[in-house]
Amino acid sequence: MDRRQLLGLGLSKLWLTAFGAAGLALAGPAGPGSALAAERVVERRPGRKPAGGTPPRSRLVMLDPGHGGNDPGAIGTRGTFEKEVTLDIAQDVARILADRHGVAVKLTRRDDRFLALDDRVALTRDAGADLFVSIHADSAPNSDARGLSAYILSEKASDSFASRLAQQENRADRFGRPGSVGGGRIVKDILMDLTARHTRHASLAARQILVEGAGKELRLLDNPMRAANFAVLKAPDVPSVLVETGFLSNPRDEEILRDATARRVVSRVLAREIAGVLSSPAFA
Ligand SMILES: [Zn+2]
Repeated sequence: MDRRQLLGLGLSKLWLTAFGAAGLALAGPAGPGSALAAERVVERRPGRKPAGGTPPRSRLVMLDPGHGGNDPGAIGTRGTFEKEVTLDIAQDVARILADRHGVAVKLTRRDDRFLALDDRVALTRDAGADLFVSIHADSAPNSDARGLSAYILSEKASDSFASRLAQQENRADRFGRPGSVGGGRIVKDILMDLTARHTRHASLAARQILVEGAGKELRLLDNPMRAANFAVLKAPDVPSVLVETGFLSNPRDEEILRDATARRVVSRVLAREIAGVLSSPAFA
């Protein structure tokens, strides 16, 4: 089966993701892959000249403000809505990434609307994003729990809290459809496996860079590098991380997330570390 046949199966994106430059080389300079790649580069070029911490080529990040519309997410002890905190931080991170780091950004939502988890994943894959970052704020029965943490997808949760949190977040998908890449061909399964391995490796790297970088300026949860079965992290071909920026159930974290100036610090740090992720060897 040659590459044109693979394209016919709608696998070009998976192939390119799995094999990177090798996939492009297979297509050759006049092949369909090169035209596709050129379109993507043009589409992604940011309007402004980037400053420090610039990735080697323009990358596309999909930022996902958690919840929205009739799904408020967690509600703080002082009545702070998670859906409002996540939208504000995501918009700020997007602006800083574009202006300061030369990274192209899209958001899954730009206003207060409900968006099913599957649709967030579909938007990310359709955009050909290099990285997906879902932004949230936790709530826990223990009001002492506080600090930032980041999750990657795993069938096995870090602990019972992570498992419950994923169930809680996944409940937002009550209007969603089951995730599917369609078909069941052997070749497709093989490519999916290679792609999934690449995606997992890059997701692990992204989580580590985000958490370690954030920890230089922001308070972290005790065990901040976490994993759970989040539906929104299930794109097989896009490295994905879910950041819990803090606990709305903790009065001090809620104070930070309610305060515009303190939130700006969170946004600036996240933008800087996302740019760092895209410059890292796992994303080369
Ligand atoms: Zn949430």
